[in-house]
Amino acid sequence: MIIILLGPPGAGKGTQAKELAVKIGLPHISTGDILRRNVSGSTELGRKAKDFMNKGVLVPDELVTQMLAERLGESDIKKGFILDGYPRTITQAKALEEILRKQGLNVDKVIYLDASEPVIVQRIIGRLVCKKCGANFHLKNMPPKRDMICDICGSDLYRRADDNEETIKNRLAVYEKEVSSLVLYYEKQKKLYRLLADGQAKSVLEDMIELIEACNDSHKVR
Ligand code: ADP
Repeated sequence: MIIILLGPPGAGKGTQAKELAVKIGLPHISTGDILRRNVSGSTELGRKAKDFMNKGVLVPDELVTQMLAERLGESDIKKGFILDGYPRTITQAKALEEILRKQGLNVDKVIYLDASEPVIVQRIIGRLVCKKCGANFHLKNMPPKRDMICDICGSDLYRRADDNEETIKNRLAVYEKEVSSLVLYYEKQKKLYRLLADGQAKSVLEDMIELIEACNDSHKVR
């Protein structure tokens, strides 16, 4: 099963995708996470991507698509995966289709996690991320048990360089511009399911699992 999570920054894609991946036993592939690992490792890709990311604009399609194609060349994706952060443009959506087509695979479901702007900004401003395993926490909503230490692997937590108010505005504007065409694209393919993600992470996850199960019974919930 190949599931794409779409939604504005701060809608909880990363948090939900990680939890969902564990629950249904599929790999979680986040282009943002892969890019951040490249930035912190100062790879060639990381050096090219860093300025775009810090400004909150998209990294050029060719760079991200090449990176994703490499990831999707690994064998663990054969039984499916959860994709978070890609596609962000129609060009990327078509590139993804092409990469999958060559392997005889297809996108099954696109879940659109929607959240209201005040919720988004509050979530992003308080977000903490684990340096090592990438787990997400929040200063108020999901505080770690020990100050700035990851509950899962015990490494240090940090605030993302692009999680500041100015960059968030840019990321939301970029998102607004691109998302409507992507939503339409997947609606036409009858693959799009919407979910309101303003609530607590746990209840959003339950809604998402319910939705996936309902879809599997070919009972389309919107
Ligand atoms: P968010 O959606 O919460 O802003 P992500 O972790 O998905 O965070 O992405 C962070 C940044 O990484 C984006 O602002 C963008 O610069 C870059 N990025 C991630 N995925 C893509 C992509 N598919 N295409 C282009 N840029 C991307």
